[in-house]
Amino acid sequence: MMVRVRFAPSPTGHLHIGAARTALYNWLFARHHKGQFILRIEDTDVSRSSQKMTAGITKALQWLGLEWDEGPIYQSKRVPLYRQKAEQLVRQGHAYECYCSPDKKQTSKQWESRCQCFNLTQEEAKKYKDQGRSKAIRFKVPKGELCFQDIFHGEVTTKLDNIENFVLLRGDGLPTYHLSVVVDDIDQQITHVIRGDDHISNTPKQILVYKALEAPIPCFAHQSLILGKDKKKLSKRHGETSVLEFHDKGYLPLAVVNFLVQMSWSPGEERIYSLDELKDKFELDKRSSGHPVFDLDKLDWLNGQLISQMKAKELLPYVERELERADLWRDELAQEQKTWFLRVIDLLKPRNKRISDFTPRARPFLSSDYPIKREAADKYLNDERLPALLPKLARDFKQMDRFTEEQIEEVLRSRAEKEGVKAALFIHALRVIVLGMKVSPGIFEVLELMGKKRTLRRMEAYLTNRLAQKC
Ligand SMILES: [Zn+2]
Repeated sequence: MMVRVRFAPSPTGHLHIGAARTALYNWLFARHHKGQFILRIEDTDVSRSSQKMTAGITKALQWLGLEWDEGPIYQSKRVPLYRQKAEQLVRQGHAYECYCSPDKKQTSKQWESRCQCFNLTQEEAKKYKDQGRSKAIRFKVPKGELCFQDIFHGEVTTKLDNIENFVLLRGDGLPTYHLSVVVDDIDQQITHVIRGDDHISNTPKQILVYKALEAPIPCFAHQSLILGKDKKKLSKRHGETSVLEFHDKGYLPLAVVNFLVQMSWSPGEERIYSLDELKDKFELDKRSSGHPVFDLDKLDWLNGQLISQMKAKELLPYVERELERADLWRDELAQEQKTWFLRVIDLLKPRNKRISDFTPRARPFLSSDYPIKREAADKYLNDERLPALLPKLARDFKQMDRFTEEQIEEVLRSRAEKEGVKAALFIHALRVIVLGMKVSPGIFEVLELMGKKRTLRRMEAYLTNRLAQKC
């Protein structure tokens, strides 16, 4: 039997990190078993659903790389089918028509348990119908116990006495979740239902509907909900929780996928796995059922790992997008200056946690308008020897034919030796002058990529400003 799973979000909000993890588990399970992954949009709550949210959800899934095989299937377009199934259940004696009107003073639970409409005579039913009362359809819950196996939770037993005769079709003719989800899962031949823990208490009701419709019952796997590091339910105060926010904050999709998978399941050592590796290794069993913890430091670490592993060429489109946002991008960087710019990316990539970290670090390479960090200047540019020594170093640089990493180092070290100072005096000062910061990748490579002209220009500007301040 072919594995068929579904991801079924309600388009009432953004794709939240918890839902994305559910989608990912479904997708990995389908791909591991060469099955099918179906996207269903549960939008029967028309007032709360929107096309814009649906578009946001599909965009987020595509960004993560979770392509679907069927769908999106919209529940709002399938309402006649749900009605037909509800009526079929009435005809077969598994459900009945209810004319109770909800009493505002009662909770829905009290209202549910009060309903005695299954005892209505035909005359009474006709009377209510003639009065124009709206009619719901309720499932008639049998007595006894119900037991099902959950892949993560093991055996789950429920006393059916505790379950009220729940509504399948509401007075307005729209299905409740219990009806639409079961009708769709049967119709779409879903073999495994992988979803959040919050659905586990509803599962017995749904199994009753499966049985009444004489359909095979799928396997269930209810995932634990994601908690914050403080063990509290995940909320906005734990940081970004919508998938597209991760996209906007400069995370790479594969890092987010690894973050979601490795929250509670480890394919081996902690590192970035490719989608193919994850597909190969993924199994739906106890090992993947642990309590997931949302730890943004881990995501930063994974994202940094991924950035440092990627080739500059692969990073280029992501970097381009970030630089565009900062108004630093120009087309030459992907054309005549591409070789140079790929070297800049390679130089900068080891210390980035997010793609957005490239922007401030690449700025001095792309613009003469870059900030000089105050504490860096205070620490490394105040040395009284610099105004006399830097012009000498600048003269040495000026005389160089080839301004390459090795030669820059040689010239700088030999000037330091001649002057009886440590090379670090020059190195630290140049970092601040040329990049505006205290730390950077190897300064000699930085200077080579910056080029002789620009390096000299920045050194001169520094000296001129300093003299101006003195006057
Ligand atoms: Zn009733």
